[in-house]
Amino acid sequence: MLRSVSLPIATDQPSGPDDWRWQLRHRISGLAELESLLPLTADERAGLAAAPDHFRVGITPYYFSLVDRNHAACPVRMQVIPRGGELVIEPGEMLDPLGEDAHRPVSAIFHRYPDRCLLLALDRCAIYCRHCNRRRLVGQQESSITRSDLDQAIDYIRRTPAIRDVLISGGDPLTLSTDRLEEIIAAVRAISHVEIIRIGTRVPVVLPMRIDDDLTAMLRRYHPLYINTHFNHPKELTPIARAACERLANAGIPLGNQTVLLRGVNSSARVLRKLFTELLRCRVRPYYLFQGDVAEGTGHLRTSVETGVEMMQQLRGHISGLAVPHLVIDTPGGMGKVNIGPDYVVSRGPDKWVLRNYEGQLVDYPQPAASDPTCAYDEVYFGAGNDATAS
Ligand SMILES: *Cc1c(COP(=O)(O)O)cnc(C)c1O
Ligand code: SF4
Repeated sequence: MLRSVSLPIATDQPSGPDDWRWQLRHRISGLAELESLLPLTADERAGLAAAPDHFRVGITPYYFSLVDRNHAACPVRMQVIPRGGELVIEPGEMLDPLGEDAHRPVSAIFHRYPDRCLLLALDRCAIYCRHCNRRRLVGQQESSITRSDLDQAIDYIRRTPAIRDVLISGGDPLTLSTDRLEEIIAAVRAISHVEIIRIGTRVPVVLPMRIDDDLTAMLRRYHPLYINTHFNHPKELTPIARAACERLANAGIPLGNQTVLLRGVNSSARVLRKLFTELLRCRVRPYYLFQGDVAEGTGHLRTSVETGVEMMQQLRGHISGLAVPHLVIDTPGGMGKVNIGPDYVVSRGPDKWVLRNYEGQLVDYPQPAASDPTCAYDEVYFGAGNDATAS
C-alpha cells in the first residue's frame, strides 16, 4: 500500500469547537457579525453601534449557541448582546461601583476585608457580560496587568500576614494557560499564612470545554482550593456545563455560585428556584445572589431591592436550605457587602421574640432565663487573654 506523505498537521493542537482556544479565537463581536447571525432588534442595534466606546462585546460560539435567535428576551442573549440602555447612566451609577480603587495597595490587589483579598490575575474574560461591574478594568487594552504587577501582588500578600484567603479573580483566571495559571496559584500557595485559595470564574458557564483533565489535575495539587462560578439562568446548565462542574467537583474542589439578579433575565422566583436546585444537583452550592451593582450603564438590568427581597421570600423554606444563597448588596463606594432579606422578626422582647415563618404564620420563641454566652473553655482552648485567634 502506498503511504501518503504526512501532512503538517499539529495533532497536539486540536482545533475545532471542542477546543477552548478555538472558542476564544472565534469569539463573536460587533454589530456586523451579529447582524449576519441573527435578527437584531433596534434596541440591540443601538447598543451594538455604541458598544465599542463603552464596553467590549465578545461571545464564545458555544455560549452564542444558547442564544434564542427568535426572542430578544432570551436570558443568554440579554447577558451578552448590548442594548441601548447601556448608554444611559442612571443617578448614582459609577465607573468603580465598589470603590475598589480605594482599597488597592498595589495595582493587582483589592484588599477590602481584614483576612482576605482579591488578586487580579488578568483583565481578560471568555465573554463580556453586559452587567459586568468591573467593566472599567476588563477587556480594556490600556489597563492590562503585567507580570511585574503580579510580582508586586504576591509580594503584598507575602508581607501581609493577616491574609488567610486569596481570591484569584480578574478578568477570568481560567482563560489563562494551565501553566501560567499554575505559576500564580503556586506562588500564592507557597505563602505559609495563606490558608485557602479561591478562584472566581465564569468559564464553566461560557467556556466549559476549558475544564479538561489537565486543568483539574493541576488544580487539585493546590488544595484547599475553592471555585466560585457565575450561573445566572438554568438555561446555562447544558450537559457540557454540568460535566465541567462534575469534573471540578470530582477533583475535590468545593464549588459555589454567585448569581447576579438581572431584571428580565432571572428576576423570577421560578427561574431562581430551578437554577439553584439544578446547581445543587451539579454539586454547586448557591453562595451569593447579588443585587446589581451600581455600575454605569447597567440600570436597565438592575431590579429594585424589593424584588430581591421578594425573591428570597419565595426561596427560603420552599426549597432546600442548601439551595438558598445569601442576598447581598455590595454597597456603593466600597463600604462592603451587606446581607439583606425578608424580615422574619415581628417583635423582640427580653422574654420572647415573635417570628414569622416562611408561610406567614406567627410563632413565639421563648427566651431562656439566663443569657451570659461566655464559653468557659475558650481560655483553655485559645490560651488565656489571647482573643486575637478567636476573632
Ligand atoms: C466579595 C469580596 C471578597 C470576598 O467576600 P466573601 O464574603 O468572603 O466571599 C473579598 N474581597 C473583595 C474585594 C470582595 O469584593
Ligand atoms: S466574566 Fe465576570 S469579570 Fe468578565 S465580563 Fe463577565 S462579569 Fe465581568
